[in-house]
Parts: sequence; structure tokens; C-alpha cells
Amino acid sequence: MTPQKGRIWANRMLASGRCVRCGKPREHYMRTCDACAKKDTARTRKRTGSKVWRPGGPGRPPKVVRDDMAEQKPKVGE
Ligand SMILES: [Zn+2]
Repeated sequence: MTPQKGRIWANRMLASGRCVRCGKPREHYMRTCDACAKKDTARTRKRTGSKVWRPGGPGRPPKVVRDDMAEQKPKVGE
């Protein structure tokens, strides 16, 4: 079975360090750029009804600091 064209393109993007969806350079994630990962997170959160990560809660912290987390940071340092 020959690989699908989209898979071939995605593999080429992975090898060259770019996003497998839009082709922009990757920064923090293994397969997608930060913008695509943010969309993924929003979609999954809507589908599963999961809540946003909080300090001290279960799971790992997000790799990219969210806007509301940047506001929280000065409070932690007090
Ligand atoms: Zn992307």
C-alpha cells in the first residue's frame, strides 16, 4: 500500500522541522506549530469538557504559557 499524499507531506514537514498542518516553523511541540496546538487544545477542551490546567492540579503544565497564566505569575512570586 502506497502512503497517502497527506502523510508524505506531513513526514516531509516533520523532517524539516515545520508544522504538519500549516507548514510554519515548529517551536514547542513535536508535530504542530504553537498556533495549531492552541487550536487543537481548544477543540479537545470543547469536545471533552476538560478544564484548564491550574498550578498544583493534575497533569503537566502547558508548554506554552497562556495569557491568563502570565497574569498569575507575579502573584506566585509575591
Ligand atoms: Zn501549524
